[in-house]
Amino acid sequence: MRIATITNWAYGITVALTLVSGGAMLLASQAEEQERAAVAQRERLDHLTETVVVDAFRLSDQARLYAIDGDPAHLVIYRREAADEDKAEAQIARLGDAGARPAELDLLRQGLHDAAQLRDEQAAAIAAAQAGRRDEARRIMFGPQYERDVDRIVATITRFQGMLDQRSDADVALATAATQRLRTVAEILVGATALLFLFVLVFVIRQRILHPVVRLSDVVTRLAAQDYAVEPPNLSQVDEIGDMAQAIAVFRETGLERQRLEAERAADQAMRDLVARMTQRLQGCDTVGDLALVVRTFAAEIAPAFAGRFYIADEHRQLMREAASWGEPHHSAPEFPVGDCWALRRGQLHRPAGERIDIRCPHACESETDDLCVPVTVRGETIGLIYFERQSALARNPADLVVYLELLAENIGLALANLRLRDALRAMALLDPLTGLSNRRRLDVALQAQLREAEKSGRPLACLMLDLDHFKRINDSYGHEAGDAVLRSVGEVLGHAVRGEGMAFRHGGEEFLLLMPGISAKAAAERAEQIRERIEALQIRQDGSDIGPVTCSIGIAAFPDHGTGDSLVHTADAALLRAKKQGRDRIVVATVRTRKAIAA
Ligand code: GH3
Ligand code: MG
Ligand code: MG
Repeated sequence: MRIATITNWAYGITVALTLVSGGAMLLASQAEEQERAAVAQRERLDHLTETVVVDAFRLSDQARLYAIDGDPAHLVIYRREAADEDKAEAQIARLGDAGARPAELDLLRQGLHDAAQLRDEQAAAIAAAQAGRRDEARRIMFGPQYERDVDRIVATITRFQGMLDQRSDADVALATAATQRLRTVAEILVGATALLFLFVLVFVIRQRILHPVVRLSDVVTRLAAQDYAVEPPNLSQVDEIGDMAQAIAVFRETGLERQRLEAERAADQAMRDLVARMTQRLQGCDTVGDLALVVRTFAAEIAPAFAGRFYIADEHRQLMREAASWGEPHHSAPEFPVGDCWALRRGQLHRPAGERIDIRCPHACESETDDLCVPVTVRGETIGLIYFERQSALARNPADLVVYLELLAENIGLALANLRLRDALRAMALLDPLTGLSNRRRLDVALQAQLREAEKSGRPLACLMLDLDHFKRINDSYGHEAGDAVLRSVGEVLGHAVRGEGMAFRHGGEEFLLLMPGISAKAAAERAEQIRERIEALQIRQDGSDIGPVTCSIGIAAFPDHGTGDSLVHTADAALLRAKKQGRDRIVVATVRTRKAIAA
């Protein structure tokens, strides 16, 4: 049963009890009133009947005095008192039988009748006295008959009063007992009301105040310990406790919301830390292989339960080729044309199986799974793609990951672009821009590597030093650009000559160096002759005019016959010098003597 119903019932019963006890009180006071009325009536009757006796004696006295001395003064007093006696009798007659019993009324009537009879005897005595018959008058007034009549009046009235006293005492006793009873009932009812009121008060305080306060206090303690799982009591009462319960519920909601936001922020921070760590590792990558390893490791961590592939566009940006994969993706081909991916076409993340219907990518068109293509772009240029394939229903909603995947792709794009830029710079630093051949800086590294290889394998290594003859004249005659054109053509001839089995370097100005591993000095001389002939056969035109035949001088030294390490280049250079001195347009192979001389 609800507390409100219980309290309403209790209040109703309290009101009813109060009304009943009030009624009992009223009845008690009514009984008291009756008791007082009975006493008052008895007193009045007592007084009036007493008057009858007293008046009888007084009238007797005056009648007797008049009978003795015939003084009219006594007659006057007698008549006045007789009038009073009449009044008293009239009053008694008026009282009637109010409350009196028949036996009492009979006695009263008897008394009044005796009094009237006595008055008749007095009247007879007075009449005799007035007629001068005083003896007769005295006989009447003092005779035994008169005495007996007076005594009878007294006896009758006394009996009447006795009966009256008896009855009124009984009435008063009854009224008193009734009053007492009603008072007791009223007191019991008041006590019961008070008890009920107290019980309801205690019940209401316990149910409405004590219990809710204890429960709220428990909830507040747990909330203070950040235990937001606690359920606050649902108190709908409209009072301070109800307000408190609502405030606590609001506090808990706020706490839960704050906890949720903190968890979200912590998860977000963890993801961003992961992406930041990946970015740091990307910066340390030297090769595309390093970068692919980092992408594979971190992508699997950032999007768990997703398989994926990392593609890099080829140099012509026509094909996407797999650089790394994780989690065994099944639906996307390892290589596909750039046009087969909508993410690459649009330069935006593409998710065909998302909340909104979208077109599927041809490179993964068989798939019904939740695929996600994230383009890797740098400055608007698409250079790669990260493909994700949802593998488990437990995986996070891809929509929640989009922000991190875009961040991931952005950082990978930057790292890939940096790597390419670094490769380009490195290539620029090691290549001669005019001829496309390796430059002198690269020669130092390559020469050491080739020498080590030759020493290890015991195979020869030929070094050819080539210088164009009278090149300055070409510059002077046809201009610097013509000179450049000659240098480019010679570079092509040399590059072609060593393709697949050696290396060509621009040593500086119009001087070139060739390294030919596995080629002896003799064989190198034959190759040098071929090169010389090809250079001589070059037909170069500049601004409509032919540049005359270009000749060159070549000095040859070979490991191990003519030197080791740096001395090999010096020996070849010395041979070249000899070729120049001997008239140019020729090939000179270093002699053993030359090697010894250089070594000395
Ligand atoms: P020699 O037969 O004795 O080698 O005579 P040479 O004129 O070829 O030699 P020299 O050292 O006197 O002149 C080399 C010239 O090559 C001088 C320089 O202007 C020119 N040269 C060097 N580098 C370049 C270049 O990159 N482009 C052009 N056009 N000329 C260059
Ligand atoms: Mg020269
Ligand atoms: Mg030179």
